[in-house]
Amino acid sequence: MPFALKKTTTILFVLTVQVLAATNLDSLSNLLQRVQQQSNHQEEIDLLNKIGEAYTSQNDLEKALSTFEKARALAKKTKDWPAYETVLINKAQTYMSLGQNPQAIETLSNLIEDLKPIKGSNLSNAYAKLAEAYRRSGNNDLAYEYNLAGLQIFEEEKDTFNIVRTLYSIGSIFFYQDNYELALEYFQKTLSLGRTANLERYIFSSLCAMGGAYNRMGQTKKSLEYNQQAYELGKRLNIKSGLPYAVMNLGANYAEMDDIEKALIYYKEALSLNRENNDTWGECGTLRIIGDALIEKKDFENSIKYLNEALAIAEQHGFRPRKLEVQRTIADYYEKIGDYKLFAEFIEKYALLKDTLANEDALAKMSESKTKYEILQKEKELALKDAKFILQQRTFLLLGICILSICLWLLVTQNRLKAKNNRILAQKNKQIKKQNEELATAYALQKETNEKIKEQNRQLEQSNIELKRFAFIASHDLKEPLRTIGSYANLLQRRYKDRIDENANEFLDYITGSAKRLYTLLNDVLDYSKLNVNKKENILTDANEAIQIANENLKTKIANKNAQISIGELPKLTADKLHLVQLFQNLIDNSIKYSESQQPVVEIASTENNGFYEFSIKDNGIGIDPELQPKIFEMFKRLHTRDKFEGNGIGLAICKKIVQEYGGEIWVESAEGKGSTFYFTLPVPEKETSLAA
Ligand code: ADP
Repeated sequence: MPFALKKTTTILFVLTVQVLAATNLDSLSNLLQRVQQQSNHQEEIDLLNKIGEAYTSQNDLEKALSTFEKARALAKKTKDWPAYETVLINKAQTYMSLGQNPQAIETLSNLIEDLKPIKGSNLSNAYAKLAEAYRRSGNNDLAYEYNLAGLQIFEEEKDTFNIVRTLYSIGSIFFYQDNYELALEYFQKTLSLGRTANLERYIFSSLCAMGGAYNRMGQTKKSLEYNQQAYELGKRLNIKSGLPYAVMNLGANYAEMDDIEKALIYYKEALSLNRENNDTWGECGTLRIIGDALIEKKDFENSIKYLNEALAIAEQHGFRPRKLEVQRTIADYYEKIGDYKLFAEFIEKYALLKDTLANEDALAKMSESKTKYEILQKEKELALKDAKFILQQRTFLLLGICILSICLWLLVTQNRLKAKNNRILAQKNKQIKKQNEELATAYALQKETNEKIKEQNRQLEQSNIELKRFAFIASHDLKEPLRTIGSYANLLQRRYKDRIDENANEFLDYITGSAKRLYTLLNDVLDYSKLNVNKKENILTDANEAIQIANENLKTKIANKNAQISIGELPKLTADKLHLVQLFQNLIDNSIKYSESQQPVVEIASTENNGFYEFSIKDNGIGIDPELQPKIFEMFKRLHTRDKFEGNGIGLAICKKIVQEYGGEIWVESAEGKGSTFYFTLPVPEKETSLAA
């Protein structure tokens, strides 16, 4: 039988605790003596309290009471209020264990009266204990009131353990008033909060209580489920004081299922556990339920024994709710045995007690307490809401101030930025104005300069015209007397050759030679001055044709020097034919003239590049020193003496003038002894012109 085994273990366990407690008591007493000598009151109270607790665990409750009393007196004397509270709660608990509920109530009421005026004292534990004492004595309204008072404080302090304990206690009040629905509501709350806070002791208690409540409501299946859960948990956690209730509840389930034998086994097991725990409240309840089961079993003789024992305990300890149950069962007993007189007597007793326990007055007081509690809760909620509202308002205000400050800051920054930008803008405007003024001055200056240049150009043009005219007139008019000088010198030489000496002949040679040269020079100057590209004919001229004419003009020189002239494919150009002839002729002439080779070779070619034809006249002549190359295009610039190479330094100047007049360029690439290549460019004719041609 499982319970028999368990019983042995429990007894063994109790013995061990007692031995331990004894050793503990000895050492505590020794310590106490030492502390008393040192007059350390705080330590002394603490030790007395611990000794009292040790006596309680040894079940020596009278000694425990006297020790707690000593501790109480010292705590009050030294005004150690926290210790005073602890000690008195222990003392009240001891009274309750002794079944002396009125003394427990008195102790706790005094404690509350003493502590109330003391600031900062915490009465919640005293309230909770007092509520328990009232509940046991059947003063449900007061029990309820003190429970609610305690709950109020526990909730404020967020003391979950005591909240759970109080919820359970309130559930119990409703349970003993047979208000199982409300009781279940509180037990359910205890269970969920107990699970959240992992308070296994209260998980167990609420499971157990719910099992009991469902059983009383006739919901056996549900009840069994809760009771089994409670029993498993109680065993696992070794909850000594609670386990008998679970065992008893299981028995009640079997009784409900008409298995009285099995029920009785559980009940008796519960009874022995109650007795081991010195739990007179539990013992009383179990005795009654055994009596009830025995009535069912028709074992009336034994039944009344148990019931009377239960009644005695209930009366001795003032357990009025228990007494009520017992009276009801005894009434049942008398009914069953057919003693209707006694049945009526007990029913009346039962009704009377029930009336005192759950009379209207008490219920009204309970509802009043509840209302008070609810009003307080509401007030708290409102205060919380107010606080929230004020906080919200403050937050909004703060937020508003923040936003306003940011806006203000933005405005100030923007204004500053604007002012800065304006300053920069004004500065820029000033600069622009200054630049405009400078520009205007520069423009005026430019205009003036342009005017001057225009004037100078006009003057230049005028002087050019005049110069040309002068050159033309000079060369033209000079040619006439020069020709006369030349002719007469010639005549003189021819007629008087034999009559004058050798020296005179030589002098005449000089005169005719010089006159001849001067004549050529004048011709060239005349040519140059006559060059007027503005009057050029705007027709297409074939470069090949111009070269042919030039070669024809140079025919004797070409033959004399045995020169070889090769001509590539040449384009047509928009240019005056005479100008082209003059250009090619001067260049070919130079190529042949400035050659010391047996056979001068001249190569003429052309390429097209960027809207221009580039002509090249390459020779195998003496070449030109690169440093002197730029000079050769100037008027009268020559690199050789006349006795080496004939000439007057005008040919290339004419070439340059022609090319430039058509918008082209002329240059030479050469090195001494390496031959020369003369280049010039002329624009590619426009399409219309070529079509017209
Ligand atoms: P010139 O009547 O002296 O030939 P140019 O104006 O035609 O006058 O030439 C100027 C000078 O450039 C010449 O005196 C000569 O020294 C040099 N020169 C011109 N063409 C050539 C060339 N093909 N090879 C070498 N030297 C040249």
